[in-house]
Amino acid sequence: MGKNKLIDFILRPADDLLNLFFPEACVTCGTSLLNQEKVICTICRFKLPKTNFHKWEGNPMEKHFWGRVNFERAIAYLYFGKETRVQELLHNLKYKGRDDVGTYIGELYGSDLKRDSVVSNVDFIIPVPLHPSRERFRGYNQAYMIGKGISDATGIPVRKDFLYRGAASTTQTKKTRFERWKNVEEIFYTEKKEQLNGKHLLLVDDVMTTGSTIEACSRALLNGTKVKLSVATIAVAM
Ligand SMILES: [Zn+2]
Repeated sequence: MGKNKLIDFILRPADDLLNLFFPEACVTCGTSLLNQEKVICTICRFKLPKTNFHKWEGNPMEKHFWGRVNFERAIAYLYFGKETRVQELLHNLKYKGRDDVGTYIGELYGSDLKRDSVVSNVDFIIPVPLHPSRERFRGYNQAYMIGKGISDATGIPVRKDFLYRGAASTTQTKKTRFERWKNVEEIFYTEKKEQLNGKHLLLVDDVMTTGSTIEACSRALLNGTKVKLSVATIAVAM
């Protein structure tokens, strides 16, 4: 038996034993997950407040953007509410290092979208970028994890090399400190525009509240390109 195999042989039962005493808990209600369950238990999963916006042309999210951004579709998986399962999911995803929550919920959403053929003509999934310093701090971009989950379920590639957040520092020397901060946080820009032309892009984020981030990303993606745009978020507060 090789060394690695031996280590595996010793450690695997220990891992099983750990799982027996400390089984993974449902992120939203805390009960122990069964073997085939991931992230949330089956009961919580069935109680998720789905919007079904993807089956509803002219849904409230689409109306919200009318006259601001010309989206093909604007859709969200779940309704956001304070002190709900959805808030718990997002809190774990953003502040507790649970990047697996993003991929899993993304996968669930992706399977719904695939089943109802909503994203069949989308070419690329584009996660809303985090500012690089914030991404380093968190260790991952939650929107990317969601995009990856949707990608796993639909087979549409997720690309983080088209849309970026941040600003070149050279143009910022004459601004006040607040303006500089605002600028760095809110500026988005695109690269490889020639590869975007003629494509249908699905912008992905965790939650939509005012829609200003999504609008800023859309302006960057539409600037100097001819693309079709849709947007999908995990939650919507409206
Ligand atoms: Zn649960």
